[in-house]
Order: sequence, then structure tokens, then C-alpha cells
Amino acid sequence: MDSSSCGTASPAIQVSKLTKDYSGTMAVKNISFTVERGTIVGLLGGNGAGKTTTLSMLLGVLVPTAGEITILGANMLTERHRVLPRMNFSSPYVGMPARLTVAENLSIYANLYGLKDIKNHVHRMAEGLALTELLKTPVGDLSAGQKTRASLAKALINDPDVLLLDEPTASLDPDTADWVRGYFEAYHKKACATILLASHNMGEVERLCHNVVMMKAGVIADQGSPGGLISRYGRDNLEDVFLDIARDASDVRETLS
Ligand code: ATP
Repeated sequence: MDSSSCGTASPAIQVSKLTKDYSGTMAVKNISFTVERGTIVGLLGGNGAGKTTTLSMLLGVLVPTAGEITILGANMLTERHRVLPRMNFSSPYVGMPARLTVAENLSIYANLYGLKDIKNHVHRMAEGLALTELLKTPVGDLSAGQKTRASLAKALINDPDVLLLDEPTASLDPDTADWVRGYFEAYHKKACATILLASHNMGEVERLCHNVVMMKAGVIADQGSPGGLISRYGRDNLEDVFLDIARDASDVRETLS
């Protein structure tokens, strides 16, 4: 993907020596990485690698045990109120109130973000994510895929500069997932948004991401561009690179380096 027109001021996200200790379970151990403005970066790793924990700390909903996070120039521990209006997220672990309709849910989030002309925002998002027919449906009555689309509408309602996405296409059929990826690509291009994407879908990551950060057991096992990693590991695709890292094929890396 081309991000050259998005400007290159200071990085959008800077993570330094970040650690999360859940009373003895070291979910994230001293990780550091940078996400440049206007880029899409994949946060990859097997189950339990620490991706959701990292995203939760970036959002400010989980307090790190140690380390620093700077987003759009603001220290997320002490001044996150400055940048939260410019951020948003989507996570399968955070549902919307089930009894409220799609329109009511989106209106509440639009209100929380202090948007003017809420009705217009809600209809614009519903149109973009093919939810217009479902606006009056309670979220609890939606299919998993429809819920995901509603959650994405919520995630984009404030036109965020920084978007954190936790497995955004996991419950979608291949056609809808492809459509959602196209939607992200278009949004990224239009808004020069910075996107950090946790995903287990390597095809999705190859298509969308400029760079990837590969986590394993709470640490960063490797990072780089999808193409760079594929060539460094001597593989045909990112899925094989992922398997090499997950299965600790360090001998392969050493042989090739
Ligand atoms: P997945 O791909 O399965 O979603 P993940 O990479 O997002 O995994 P995390 O959910 O961040 O992984 O979990 C990292 C580690 O932290 C795991 O060992 C998990 O059991 C542990 N963990 C996560 N949340 C908690 C919690 N609230 N209390 C204690 N341990 C936790």
C-alpha cells in the first residue's frame, strides 16, 4: 500500500518498554515499537501472544505495569484526554448494548465523541457499512456479521486519525470480509489514518499492512514489512513466516541472514 501522501510528522504511536503483568502472568514483556503516521501496521501473534493486552493499554483501558505509550504526541498515561477524541477502536470483546437499536447505539457514540448533527453522522455510517435497513433493529437481534459491521460503524463514527482494530473480520463471510477490507483501504486513503490491526488472517495483513509486528509469548519476535519478512525468511507468503516464528524456526532465520 502507498502511504507516501500521508505526511511523515512524528510517529502516530510510540511504544517504549511496555509491560503488563497480570499478577504473575507476564502478558506483555518490555516491548517497543513505532507506528508511523498514515500507515497500517499488523499486530500478529498466536493465541495468548499479548495482542489484545497491548491494544487495551494503547487505548488506555488497561494500565501498564511499566513502560510508556505516546499517541499523536500525547503521553497516554497522563494526557490521553487530548487524543482520545481522535482515536477509536473495534474489538470482538466489547459489545454494544443489545437492547438498543443500531441507530440508538451509533447516536450514543456520536454523542460521546461530541459530534454535531448526529443524525447525519449515523446515516452516513449506516450507508457506508450497508446498515441502513438495520438501523431500527436491536443490536441483540443482529447476526454476528451484522454486529461486526455495526461495531465498525461505531469505530469510524468520529473519523478517527488513529484506529485500533482487534480481529475486525474474524466473524465475517469471505465476501463481506473482502468488502470490509476494501472499506478500510478507502478510509485509510481518504483520511490518511493510522491503523493498528490485530489479525490472524495473513492474507488480510499482506493486503492491508505496510509493516507488521510479530508477537510471541509477550515479546516482539520480529518486525518489518510483509514483503521484507517474506524475503528474509525465504518464504512465499506471510502465513509461512508466521508459522516459522510460531514454531520457533530461528535456525531458518539464522541460515538465511
Ligand atoms: P488471542 O489471539 O487468543 O486473542 P492475544 O494475543 O490477544 O490472544 P491476550 O489476550 O493479550 O493475547 O493474552 C495474553 C496473555 O495474558 C495470555 O496468557 C492470557 O491468558 C493473559 N491474560 C489476558 N487477560 C488476562 C487477565 N485479565 N488476567 C490474567 N491474565 C490475562
